[in-house]
Formats: sequence, structure tokens, C-alpha cells
Amino acid sequence: MPKTLSDKRMSGVAEKVVRWQTSHGRNSLPWQNTQDPYRVWLSEIMLQQTQVATVRDYFERFTHRLPTVADLAQAGADEVMGLWSGLGYYSRARNLHRCAQIVMQQYGGQFPQQAALLQTLPGIGRSTAAAITSLCFGERVAILDANVKRVLTRLLAFEGDLAQAAQERALWVLAQDLVPDEQAGAKAMARYTQGMMDLGATVCLARKPQCGQCPLQTDCRAQAAGTMQNFPVRTRKLKRSSQSLWLLWAQDASGAVWLQRRPAPGVWAGLHCLPVFEGEAQLRDALPATTRNSLQPLESFVHVLTHKDLHLHPMYVRLTAARRLPGIQGAWLAKHDWPALGLPAPVRKLLETAGLLKA
Ligand code: SF4
Repeated sequence: MPKTLSDKRMSGVAEKVVRWQTSHGRNSLPWQNTQDPYRVWLSEIMLQQTQVATVRDYFERFTHRLPTVADLAQAGADEVMGLWSGLGYYSRARNLHRCAQIVMQQYGGQFPQQAALLQTLPGIGRSTAAAITSLCFGERVAILDANVKRVLTRLLAFEGDLAQAAQERALWVLAQDLVPDEQAGAKAMARYTQGMMDLGATVCLARKPQCGQCPLQTDCRAQAAGTMQNFPVRTRKLKRSSQSLWLLWAQDASGAVWLQRRPAPGVWAGLHCLPVFEGEAQLRDALPATTRNSLQPLESFVHVLTHKDLHLHPMYVRLTAARRLPGIQGAWLAKHDWPALGLPAPVRKLLETAGLLKA
């Protein structure tokens, strides 16, 4: 496996990417055309596991309510979780909040301008740090997220197994070799980073790479050999597990629902959730005897997390008189409170149907 790029053809790659990004890349997304690291950082974190189309609305709402890193640092955890509610992967929101507080307390409200320093902050990995500093400050550092790994392993026909740390390190070295040289300047560096992201997201697609529209078509070794689908090489499969959980959906006469904040660490940590039980018997035992008989099992469904399938079994009960559920932590929260709370996606979906159950 080459550790550096010896092929002369590759020396023109950065320039082609920069040129292509200018004319064919994405240039009007709400987090573009700014060098404000707060906006770029926020968008990078939101985009980590979420599609651009979804992130747009969340980004606009988030930055409208919390326009600066100082505003985010001062916001309450509930407000941050509420703004994130529905985006999933909630550890991102918790890290975002902590990171903003560190930027305020330790860096005087200014994001570090070197990726090496930035990546020491919560929730910012090596590639995200490089994206922020190259886009905002023109630092000559390569990014290597999943999309860019696909572009580069195809371009270079990189056969190393990325499940092995040594091979991933080798790819980082090659990625760094490809960035524009110093003379190209900070603007070219920012465009190059954006161009690599755009190529991965819109042209070098996982299933159907659009090689005919790719500025690197004549350089691409996988395209020349017709082996695009062989890259990237990654042998390790994600180990999936599954878990069954029972959810108590208790609703009072006014339509309010009993919600409790989930403990950390654990699934949905910090979010407001229907009380969760590991078995139906435990759920029944937690209720007063008079209430148990009114429990209605609702249709079970599967919610898919990254490494785990959650088999969820909601149990509904309408409480007309009792206002409290002794022994089960939580509070009655009315429908108008739900949008502002951080709710796990499957719980939000269930609650959205609450109107159907009104007598
Ligand atoms: Fe990807 Fe095809 Fe471009 Fe190669 S030529 S980088 S496979 S889109």
C-alpha cells in the first residue's frame, strides 16, 4: 500500500476539486458563505448522522434561538435538548452544549484555529476539527469522513482494510498529501474541503457513483479498472444486538402524559421519555392495583439504533382521577410542552398520535 502519492496524475487533483466546487458544488446551504466557526461547527455536528434536507430546518431554528456560542453556553440543558429533539444521537447535543461552555470558559469565546487543539474538545473528532479549521481559517488539514473515505479509496484504489487502524492511518497520510499546497491560499483550502464533501455526497455515491460527472474521472484508479464497488474495503461488520422495552404511556383526563427524564449513561440519556421497564411484569407491578386492570397493550414496533434494535411495547392507561403515579419518577406534561422537550423519536411519534386516543 503506498504511503505517499507518487503518481504525477494525483498532483492536479486538488486544483480540479477546487475548480469543480466553484462551478458545480453546493454553495448556498444555510451554513455556507460564512467563516463563523460556531455556525460551521454546529452544521458539521448536525450533519454527522443526518441528511442535509433534515438539518436545514433544525439549523435555522437552532441558530435563530441561539445565534452565538455564548448563547448556547448559557442555555439550559432542556432548551438545547428541545432544539435537538428529533435529530437523534443525542450525545451530540450534550457534547455540543459542553463544548460551547468550554469554548467560553477556557478560550474566551473563540474557537481554537488549529484542528489539533479543536479535536480535544467534546464531540469533535479529527475530521470534524479539520473541516472547521480548513473551512473557517484555511488550515491545510485533510478531512476524512465516511463520504471522503469513499472518494479517496476509489480515487487511489486503496485496498487496505479500513477496519484496521494502521490502514486508516495510512489513508490519513495520503489524504493529507492531496490537500492544496500552501501557495494556493486559504480560500482554495476551504473550497477543497467543501469540494471533497460535495463529491462524496452528490457524485461519488455509495451504490451508483456518477463517474461521468466527476472532475476526477481521468485520475480515478477504481474507475479505470471498473472496480468502484470494491471500495472502501472494510471487513468488520457492526455487531447488532436487540433489546425489548416496555413503555408506560399514562395519560390524564386533560391529555397530559407522565414523562420522566432518562438517566445518563444509557439509551436516550437526558431526554424526556415515557417510563421504561425491562418487562411487562415490572411495568404492571409499578402501578397501583386499581390501575393495572385498565392497561391496554398497544401495537409493538421496532426502533433501529446504530448498534441495536429496540423492540418497544407501549402500554396505555388513561387515569381519570389519580394525578400522581406513586413510585414512578416523572411529571405530568401537557401537549403544548412536548415540542420544547427533548423526546426520543419513537416516543414523539407515539405522542403525536395521542389525539387518536382521546375519548
Ligand atoms: Fe468516485 Fe467515479 Fe469520481 Fe472515481 S470517478 S472518484 S469512482 S465518482
